Amino acid sequence: MEASLTARDRVGIQDFVLLDTYTSETAFLDNLRKRFHENLIYTYIGTLLVSVNPYKELDIYSKKQMDTYMGVNFFELPPHIYALADNAFRTMMSEFNNHFILISGESGAGKTEASKKILQFYAVSCPSTKVLNNVRDRLLLSNPVLEAFGNAKTLKNDNSSRFGKYMDIQFDHQGGAVGGHILSYLLEKSRVVHQNHGERNFHIFYQLVEGGEEDLLRWLGLERNCKHYRYLVQVRETINDIYVGKCAKVSSINDKSDWKTVRKALSVIDLSESDIENLFGIIASVLHMGNIKFEADARGYATLNNNQEMQWVFSPFSVDHAVYARDALAKAIYGRTFSWLVNKINESLANMDSSRKTVIGLLDIYGFEVFSVNSFEQFCINYCNEKLQQLFIELTLKSEQEEYEMEGIEWEPVPYFNNKIICDLVEEKFRGIISLLDEECLRPGEATDLTFLEKMEDKIGGHPHFVTHKLADQKTRKTLERGDFRLLHYAGEVTYCVVGFLDKNNDLLYRNGKEVMRQSKNAIIKHCFPSTEPDSKRRPETVVTQFKNSLVGLTEILMMKEPWYVRCIKPNEAKQPGHFDDVLVRHQVKYLGLMEHLRVRRAGFAYRRKYEIFLQRYKPLCPDTWPNWKGTAAEGVRCLIKHLGYKSDEYKMGRTKIFIRHPRTLFATEDAFQV
Ligand code: ATP
Ligand code: MG
Repeated sequence: MEASLTARDRVGIQDFVLLDTYTSETAFLDNLRKRFHENLIYTYIGTLLVSVNPYKELDIYSKKQMDTYMGVNFFELPPHIYALADNAFRTMMSEFNNHFILISGESGAGKTEASKKILQFYAVSCPSTKVLNNVRDRLLLSNPVLEAFGNAKTLKNDNSSRFGKYMDIQFDHQGGAVGGHILSYLLEKSRVVHQNHGERNFHIFYQLVEGGEEDLLRWLGLERNCKHYRYLVQVRETINDIYVGKCAKVSSINDKSDWKTVRKALSVIDLSESDIENLFGIIASVLHMGNIKFEADARGYATLNNNQEMQWVFSPFSVDHAVYARDALAKAIYGRTFSWLVNKINESLANMDSSRKTVIGLLDIYGFEVFSVNSFEQFCINYCNEKLQQLFIELTLKSEQEEYEMEGIEWEPVPYFNNKIICDLVEEKFRGIISLLDEECLRPGEATDLTFLEKMEDKIGGHPHFVTHKLADQKTRKTLERGDFRLLHYAGEVTYCVVGFLDKNNDLLYRNGKEVMRQSKNAIIKHCFPSTEPDSKRRPETVVTQFKNSLVGLTEILMMKEPWYVRCIKPNEAKQPGHFDDVLVRHQVKYLGLMEHLRVRRAGFAYRRKYEIFLQRYKPLCPDTWPNWKGTAAEGVRCLIKHLGYKSDEYKMGRTKIFIRHPRTLFATEDAFQV
């Protein structure tokens, strides 16, 4: 007894539901910290997994570990991401329904790593055949490819996802992974032409320059030196080529070896050699484009330096205008190539077999982020995180409590902060920030970033989650510039600088640039700039509206599936192992809603099933219900659990479902079933 107490003192409790002082945030934090220092980064709240980024390699992801977690009940082993993956998989197999795993947390908290671990687990644990191994390799190798093109070093994370990713893994009746499909969300393509100090462009550029074979570089006309490329070292061109963001090398990143991985992965995901040549041709031309220099002629129009190998469309642009047009084209080329790549991966993951399949969806998006200067990109990313928090609330805190009510189960409501108010502030029709921004984008020539700001002050000035310099009280005003607006997000305050909002939301591309692209000999470019593309006749949707619609679509996809949650926590801002910053972690525990989730779990029931489904699955365990029960499903379940000896405090009978308080009750039933 004493020994077990000591162990418990040292390693904490593996499920917060079992914590005696479960309402205390301090006790919650103590438990998390204790476990973190013992390298126990995972802890449950019921079936939700809390994960703290260890910032070091732990020996817990071996094949042996995977085998250990396969087919084992949730609470029999220490918490692990494999246990969650395995349970989602087994529920899918036994109930033949679709699931998704929502991985959330702020930038650098470990979402992408978690999603990779889950994918690796499925790749290893699912039945394998030669064909299935092919699919498995493609699923796995789609990761390094998409990371190379869609991830970058930011101040928060050396491998930060700059796009949102939802991936369906499709399984057949035997549980073999037979295919997949990826949806990508709003790539931060402004990074192609500009990065903040200490940040980098997308990894692929450095991989190519550092790792590309001599012949390839020669063919592409590239030098093996990142400093040579303005898009990689941020030379501010108007002030005599001053370096402002030199950050080509990062100690945690090995561009050379990553290049080899990506190069190999590209052929596994079915890109032909000519696709690959074209792809790198594009990456190289983006680098070359960045180096195009303009000079003003006598009339002030931009002209190209003589020694440029590239042709340029003639237009009477000023130098600034020409630089702008060049950057817009570079961003468009990169963004469209990224979409092409996602499509290519989807083609290679497509499953030809039309029989019904079930899926597990993995959602890994860019996490909530706050920098010293935040722009349109952070606005979109943080809005996306608000939406996912809203989904989490809808699916757990809100619907869980509503379900008890609906089923007539006695219940003491748990209060929680509902971030719907912030979602509405951003997305409400006609008066939300997105609508106001779009309205301003419809007034070219008249509207500016500042008129957008004024419009917001006018229309939503009184909102409790919105403030600007003009609206603020004296104390707050000192922390705001005139061109700023601040949102009180669920995860904290973010001050956005309004400069560039209209421009980035419009995302205009000059027609001339498009026409040149259409004439390209590069097959990918030809495909990305089709001649049938509607030009300026119909106004295309703005960037933020497209994004909003895609998030609505995503929510619809997710709502049809059964959810599992991984909540990732960042232990410190310095990306250091062994350092647990109490203030930082407490803040995340708060805004991730973990205490409320725990309270609901603790007071509630871990498992619930419709009477019909429960009876169908377990009726062989009781002679009265097997093989056919003549009465109602509810009566059948009552008879069944009486036979199984369920105690009265272990379950409750609702209107349409049975509610089971603790998973162990169900596991015992499952075990009886296995025998
Ligand atoms: P973003 O929102 O910026 O994409 P993220 O939540 O996806 O952030 P990751 O890229 O998954 O963050 O993690 C950041 C870094 O933390 C990883 O590159 C890795 O170094 C470390 N890390 C995260 N999870 C783990 C883990 N389970 N084991 C070891 N290191 C980890
Ligand atoms: Mg990520």
